[in-house]
Amino acid sequence: MPGVARVEPITTARALRGPFDYQRPEGVGVGSVLVVPFGRQEILGVVTAIAEASEHDLVAPRRVLEQALPEDLVTLAPWIAAEYCSTPARAFSLMLPPKGVRARTALQARALREPESRERLSDAQRALLASLPRATGHDLPALRRLEARGLVAIEPHVVRRAPVHTAVGARASVEPLPLTGAQRAVLADIEAAAPGERLLLHGVTGSGKTEVYLHAAARTLDAGRTVLVLVPEIALTPQIVARFQARFGDTVAVLHSQLTPGERYDEWLRLRRGEARICVGPRSAVFAPLAGIGLIVVDEEHDASYKHEGDPRYDARHVADRRALDHGAVLVAGSATPRAESWHALRRISLPERVDGARLPPVETIDLRGIRGSIHPRTHEALVDSRKSVVLLNRRGWSNYLSCQTCGHAWECPSCDVTLVLHRASATLACHHCGHRERVPSRCVECGSVSIARHGTGTERLETELPGPVFRLDGDAGSAAAVLAAFERADRGILLGTQMVAKGHDFPDVELGVVVDADQTLRFPDFRAEERTFALVAQLAGRAGRGPRGGRVLVQTLAPDAPSIALAGRHDAATFLAGELERRRALRYPPFSTLIRIVCASERPGAAQTAASALHARLPGALGPAPLFRLRGRERSQVVVKAEDRAAAVVAVGAAVDAIAADRANRGVSLSVDVDPQ
Ligand code: ADP
Ligand code: ZN
Ligand code: ZN
Repeated sequence: MPGVARVEPITTARALRGPFDYQRPEGVGVGSVLVVPFGRQEILGVVTAIAEASEHDLVAPRRVLEQALPEDLVTLAPWIAAEYCSTPARAFSLMLPPKGVRARTALQARALREPESRERLSDAQRALLASLPRATGHDLPALRRLEARGLVAIEPHVVRRAPVHTAVGARASVEPLPLTGAQRAVLADIEAAAPGERLLLHGVTGSGKTEVYLHAAARTLDAGRTVLVLVPEIALTPQIVARFQARFGDTVAVLHSQLTPGERYDEWLRLRRGEARICVGPRSAVFAPLAGIGLIVVDEEHDASYKHEGDPRYDARHVADRRALDHGAVLVAGSATPRAESWHALRRISLPERVDGARLPPVETIDLRGIRGSIHPRTHEALVDSRKSVVLLNRRGWSNYLSCQTCGHAWECPSCDVTLVLHRASATLACHHCGHRERVPSRCVECGSVSIARHGTGTERLETELPGPVFRLDGDAGSAAAVLAAFERADRGILLGTQMVAKGHDFPDVELGVVVDADQTLRFPDFRAEERTFALVAQLAGRAGRGPRGGRVLVQTLAPDAPSIALAGRHDAATFLAGELERRRALRYPPFSTLIRIVCASERPGAAQTAASALHARLPGALGPAPLFRLRGRERSQVVVKAEDRAAAVVAVGAAVDAIAADRANRGVSLSVDVDPQ
């Protein structure tokens, strides 16, 4: 009796939770992935345990997939479900290699024996035998004839689908650079850290953090362990990938969403088999099937992309902490502008100066009050004087919205309560929330007037107002990698874009950074608004002045006295974060509490608000219910829980949500739970 396999079925249904028992086929263990009959369907399932006997009559799985999850991921899934009020099945679906893909194999011919001298072979056959490893598919019939005579063996072998990478960062150095004194000190701290310990590497951009990661990674490999490197989006940070690949070659596997499923599968497989021992990737790479992790790097740890927006709404930084504990790995979170949470909780190590000794560029605020247009004359002048600049405006499109000058009608999305943004190049009005698009109107739909005003400026319009060649990076214009590569090659020009331009690129010759509208993030009604503004300004400052000619940063604002802007201007993260933590302690915000946000949404008028009220009644002390703007045709209402005890709060919220969802009165209402919302 081979025993029982306990299987968690991979389904999105919340109510359906395993495990369910099946017969255990030969060779199946914890982590095996099976196709099992389930009701009338066949679905995927992960084996979470093996048992001796079951009280049920067992059926056999239909198939065993060639890939199994490592055991530590099998235990991580229920932990994620509990931390983020989700289900183990949904957590597993984040971890499995791409579906419906298998290893690619090709036939390979190998010589068997020397042909005897009397043996009759045509010249073509002799030539084929001499060039065996390079034989192609066309040669197959001829090879089969040789095989029949016992001269060659033909067998399948696995072919790797290797991802192709862009040329950005092609100057990455292959040889390790000798470290500076400050880098050596930081590396020593990392090496001396206890298993599972977390460190915050606070270092301005250009202070040599990446070089420290590379050295720490080499030491970790030498010690026989593996390395996980998390980065914000790969498209925006090709340089760090290029540097790891230049240094470590094929032992680096890259996992990200732009790979084809086949490439992703093969990279996954190389990690799972231990053929690749460093994994570099964005948020989802936190589930890489690495064994024996010794080092986890979270680069640009302040970046919002580490938070996942689908269920489970996990935070890769929090999952990385968990994996570091499970593996006894050292975790290094690096940033020039760390989060208040990390500043508070992690042991700090720092690289206070740039490697080249260059000073951080001076930051000047430019008072926009009383100025017409979006660019101050002084900013314009500085752009003309600089060879290369980076300009940040966090608004896509031409204008924010259109309104009729006769009757006041404003063009809104039919499914969301937001105004439509004008995109001139495509002659459309677009909703940036649901993707709705319509033609640009020539007259008012209400009163027929032809005088329609365009309000506000987005990147598309600003492009036409800036002096010099502009490289636009905003998700609308071309692929990010292509835009960045073109800007890198250019002699002079302006890289204009949304916050994408402030991420980890490293262009040595940028002389000027401009924040067009610093108040935009400040005005955002969120307790993290100050932190975001500080990070944006300081990060942009990090992009400028890396070259011999130095640089400067201009921050245009209507609020030149805002502390986050002033302190970012002085590159003073310590003072900013101390003040920020004091404020959060007083208001009981994270890290001094856990926030859980529950959003109820429904197409049925009033239903979301009713469900949110019922939810609120079950969660004493919760904030709300507060209406949110209508999105994709659904009314929304939210309740927020602020709790000292995270685990207890997640359990209470889970129970309340289950009760509300089970009540027939709330049919058609969807509830989504976000623990640690961003
Ligand atoms: P960060 O990750 O903090 O932005 P990097 O590691 O990218 O810093 O270093 C900034 C620049 O300095 C890079 O061009 C890098 O190659 C170079 N650099 C880093 N460390 C050294 C070193 N020890 N010696 C010489 N150059 C270095
Ligand atoms: Zn009108
Ligand atoms: Zn919409």
